[in-house]
Formats: sequence, C-alpha cells, structure tokens
Amino acid sequence: MSKEKDNKLPSSAKTAADKMDKIVSLTKRRGFVFPSSEIYGGFGAVYDYGSYGVELANNIKAAWWKAIVQENENIVGLDSSIFMHPKVWEASGHVGGFSDPLSECKKCHSRSRVYHILEEAGVFADEKMTEKEINKLLKENKDKIKCPKCGASDFSEAKNFNLLVKSNLGNFTGDWDKKPAYLRGETCQGIYVNFKNVLDSVRVKIPFGIAQTGKAFRNEITARQFIFRKREFEQMEMQMFVHPEDEMKIYKEWKERRWQFYLDLGIKKENLKWHEHENLVFYAKAAWDIEYNFPFGFKELEGIHARGDYDLSQHSKFSGKDLSYQDPQTNKRFIPHVVETSAGVDRTFLAVIAEAYTEEKLKDGSERVVMKFPKKLAPVKVAIFPLLKNKPELVKKAKEIYDNLKTQYMCEFDDNGNVGKRYRRQDEIGTPYCVTVDFDTLEDKSVTVRNRDTMKQERVKISELEEFFSKNLK
Ligand code: ATP
Repeated sequence: MSKEKDNKLPSSAKTAADKMDKIVSLTKRRGFVFPSSEIYGGFGAVYDYGSYGVELANNIKAAWWKAIVQENENIVGLDSSIFMHPKVWEASGHVGGFSDPLSECKKCHSRSRVYHILEEAGVFADEKMTEKEINKLLKENKDKIKCPKCGASDFSEAKNFNLLVKSNLGNFTGDWDKKPAYLRGETCQGIYVNFKNVLDSVRVKIPFGIAQTGKAFRNEITARQFIFRKREFEQMEMQMFVHPEDEMKIYKEWKERRWQFYLDLGIKKENLKWHEHENLVFYAKAAWDIEYNFPFGFKELEGIHARGDYDLSQHSKFSGKDLSYQDPQTNKRFIPHVVETSAGVDRTFLAVIAEAYTEEKLKDGSERVVMKFPKKLAPVKVAIFPLLKNKPELVKKAKEIYDNLKTQYMCEFDDNGNVGKRYRRQDEIGTPYCVTVDFDTLEDKSVTVRNRDTMKQERVKISELEEFFSKNLK
C-alpha cells in the first residue's frame, strides 16, 4: 500500500490501509511473519512464520484440533501426504476446472480476476464454475462490472488459468508434458481417498468425520493482501460423512459450531459475517462462508459446504473402487454425503492479529501497542525478568523461576534494557504476564506479576506462582 495511493483514499480506507501497514510492520519487527527468501528480494505470495508466528499458528491449529477431533468422539484425525496419485486431481475436477478466470479490459488492457470484478459488482460466483458458466455471468452483468483501473465496462471473454502447482516428482525424463504430480491444491482430497481405509481400520459409523491440517498450494494470480492470499498456505479441513437424509441437519449444526469457534478465539461478533454462495456448482446443496472484517474489508475466513455424494462418487468412478457404505441397521448401501468445514490457518492468523492489535494512550501521555491475544493463543504466556542484568543474585533467582515455569508454559527470559522497555516488547508480542524479580524478592520470596491488559502489578509468592498461573492462564 503505497503512500501515493493512500492520498487518493477516503479517510476510512486510509485508516484501514494504515492499520494493515502497521500490522505488516509489527509482525515483521516482532518475528511473527517474514517475506520468504527476503535476502533475495522475496518470493511472490510466499511467507515464513518467525519465532512468535510459529507459536501463534501452532496454538490456532491446536485450538482447532481440540474443537474438532478431541471434543468429538465421532471425528478422527489424519495426516495424508502432499503428493497423491495424479488421477485424484482429475476425479476431483481440479485438472479440468480448478482455475482462476482472467479477463482483459478492452480499453486499458489491464487484466483482472473475474471473481474479483464480479464481487465488486455484487455478483458472487462459485470458484468451481466452468469457463462457460463464468462467461455467462460476465455477460449478464456486463453493465455493472467496471474495470478497477479505468472504470470502463468492456471486458474480453474470461480465460481460465489452472491453479494447480505441478512438479516433476517421479518423472526422470525431463519431459514436462508427461502427466505431472501435483502439489495438493486442498487437503480434503487426502481425506476422500482415505475414506475406506479409515472406515476399515477405526471403529466409526456414519455419521463420522475425518479431520486434518496441512499445507496446500495454489498458483494464485493476484498476490496481494499479505498472508490472506498465499501460494503456499495451510488448511484445517473436516469432512463429515453422513446419511443423505441427515445432510442438511448436520450441515446446520456445523454452521453454528464453526461460528462459535471464532467467537471462542476472541473474535468480536460484529467482525464476523455470513455470506451465502448464490451461484452453486450443480452438486452442492448449500455453501456459506464465514467472513471476517479484515482491514481491507469482509473476506472469507472459512467455507462450510454441503457437497452431496459428489466427492466419493467421483473417486469411486475414477478409481474403480466401491466407496459405498452399508448401513448396519437396514443393510442398505449408499454413497455417503459430505458436510465440509474448510478453514485456513493463515487467514485465521491474520484475523487474530487484526483483532488483537490495540493502540492505547496511557495516563502519562505515552502510547503503547499491545496485542490482546486470548491467553490460549498468546505465543509466550509468561516473561520472567531480573530487575537488573548485572546483579547475579537477581539473575539466578529469575532463572530458577523461568526453569520451573517453562516446563508448563511457553516462557521467555529477558534481561535486556530497562523493565519498562521489556514490558513494551512483551506487550507487542502479546504476553499475558510478566514476572519481575527485584531486591525485595530476596527478602520476601515474592515477585511482581504484571498483567498485560490492565497493566496492574501485584506481589505473588514464588511458592504460589504455579497456582496463580494455572488459575489465570486457562
Ligand atoms: P478464495 O475465494 O478467497 O480464493 P476459496 O473459496 O478458494 O478462497 P477454499 O477453496 O474454500 O477457498 O479453501 C478453504 C479455506 O482455505 C479458505 O476459506 C481460506 O481460509 C483458505 N485459503 C484458500 N486459499 C487460500 C490462499 N491462497 N491463501 C491463504 N488461505 C487460503
């Protein structure tokens, strides 16, 4: 977001762009997110998570796993490989149809993602639509669609660019026209192709779910909006296999549960919104997205879909294997229907960061930036400081406390600079508690515990610290 561009923006958009700039800068400065291979100038739409970023991402995944796998007796986990048989992607429709249609403005010749210009005109297209279906929508809405660059309403026919990322895995001929092995474009295909393995190996009965988190790869055309749209990203997906008659009932239940999940991550209700897909692919029964109010507007965080029997039927057809299920009560066979919840680690990460980012004016006139993460997501739970770095007796005591607490919580030992500066640093990382060992500690065996949000300080006996944190870090 360049300054030059900022000047043309209305003030609300300027504030939003400003917030995004601040987030990008803080996440880099404080070791949450780095551009990939930055010393070589970066690599489009690929990012790395730094020391605190990896903790936050792990905590998000752990919260998801707990809500999905641990707390549901009929959902089991899976970790399928990134590489799969190339036929998987033919059966899923990705080779033929997983594409991002582009269109060119006939006036200024700039190219736009068709989904984007349709969305700007209030028309929402399903990403699995064919080129023909997309062009029909473009034609029907011709007058509403404006070029984001010159404002003209004259676009060329949309052309598809496949989003699957190809590799030469297992191909030693150097011939790139040979059928490629793809890097998976979504994690759920690994779930569908393991449906029978799970059914045969774990004691599950329909309705049951399979869940996994993992990397996915897409040759995204527009590489903008920081970690919102990456070419290598991570998904958290769960497929419930259900009886056709139960599909919509189970779908409704999961819609509610997934909404609640984000509230439980500390996201405010007013920053979440439902978006219903209007133009569904032929096999889908329902598709709703949960959107978050990112600094650049409400955008998709997670998709919740009722997919009918399409996925298992396709894999059955392409593999020649029977993927039907026999109802143990009626003995009738049927192809299970799928209710899918499909979330992104990186978008949740960005939403949690945007939600936590707080600027506060303090009583003494100074300002602080504090990341008000919910405690369960905070990368570091407790920071431990000796008041002075050059007093061995304080350092020794602080180290002792650190060595004890680190066995239970992610802790950090910090003896750099003055305590005020250390507090500011921990505020920007979002550490809920700081513990300071001072000269009184040596006498009264107590420490000062400072609360991130209220900035209140209290004395706590060292012998009661464990109990204090087990109560306050829930
Ligand atoms: P979009 O329309 O924004 O491209 P999508 O509808 O293609 O997203 P899905 O295929 O439904 O996304 O994937 C499920 C989830 O995976 C999304 O809700 C999002 O959180 C995440 N996701 C998808 N594409 C990306 C990406 N390029 N970068 C980061 N996360 C992504």
